[in-house]
Amino acid sequence: MLKKTAQKTILVAGGAGFVGSHLCEALLRQGHRVICLDSFLTGNIENVRALCAFREFRLVRQDVIEPIRLSEALDRVYNLASPASPPQYQADPIHTMMTNVVGTRNLLALAAEHGATFLQASTSEVYGDPEVHPQSEDYRGSVNCTGSRACYDEGKRAAEALCFDYRRRGTADVRVARIFNTYGPHMRADDGRIVSNLIVQALKGESLTIYGSGEQTRSFCYVSDLVEGLMALMEVGDAPDGAVNLGNPSEFTVTALAHLVQRMVPSAAGIVHRPLPEDDPRRRRPDIRRARDLLGWEPRVPLSEGLPQTAAWFVNHLAGSLPPPARPGRRAAAASA
Ligand code: NAD
Repeated sequence: MLKKTAQKTILVAGGAGFVGSHLCEALLRQGHRVICLDSFLTGNIENVRALCAFREFRLVRQDVIEPIRLSEALDRVYNLASPASPPQYQADPIHTMMTNVVGTRNLLALAAEHGATFLQASTSEVYGDPEVHPQSEDYRGSVNCTGSRACYDEGKRAAEALCFDYRRRGTADVRVARIFNTYGPHMRADDGRIVSNLIVQALKGESLTIYGSGEQTRSFCYVSDLVEGLMALMEVGDAPDGAVNLGNPSEFTVTALAHLVQRMVPSAAGIVHRPLPEDDPRRRRPDIRRARDLLGWEPRVPLSEGLPQTAAWFVNHLAGSLPPPARPGRRAAAASA
């Protein structure tokens, strides 16, 4: 247990989501008081049910678009509140934009009022479909501001602008993390993200869907690595001048990922190709030199470890809705069908 002076009161907006729930748990384990504020738009009470047993954990159901009033004095504010997968953020694009703009403004104002340090969960989507590779923080991005992903990409870009305006005015101590593809337990089975999609399809014995040729690349960061990076950025003495990329620089094609899943899950069937969605980025790999230099952070969990851990979690989580375990030879038969 932390001494009273070291114990902080920390707000995690979006704390019932995939990343937020792991962050809440890690902060509680360090001995802090955690307030998880979430509208449950894409979050899940199951992600934080075990945390509700901690005396130092409080759950507030609220949309960040509405003015936020809390009775506790806050030391830290993490803003993770935003749907993150394309089907979810495109379901109500205007609400997504408002969540990122109005919601971030509300949380920045709250941090300023409390003198709390603020961390914004931004995204590699601010780079759009990048023309430079790998992406360093100085790259200004190639985003289609009228496309169907703009509600998220441009919402996050506007949120970054707000963060740095608060900082320039000296009203809040602000840090901005640009998060690249992250995966792990607590992802939703139906959220349409590539890792959860492929694992869930494999466990159900369905064909694995690849959008486009499969030659597009992504870099996958295990959630425990990301949470360590977020906490290191929040606690680093001097706020970095700009945003900081957090992601795993190991790059895989989507086809290579699908093959890894096929090798790992005996029930996985063959691969089917579907058209690439609008504005889907062709290449993604973070340049993490800034995070290494400033935070001493780099990811430690390779895909070969993180993927089986994620699949094992889905097996437990989906128990009852999965077909019986595959008999030897079934995959070969399905793959050739
Ligand atoms: P998630 O959808 O699992 O979690 C987001 C949480 O925010 C959910 O619990 C949701 O209910 C809540 N939320 C959404 N809109 C809200 C609103 N208006 N008011 C209150 N709560 C709201 O997504 P995640 O993967 O955990 O992502 C967390 C953050 O990290 C997001 O801001 C996302 O943009 C960012 N990010 C994630 C990834 C990734 O690969 N997971 C990559 C880049 C950026």
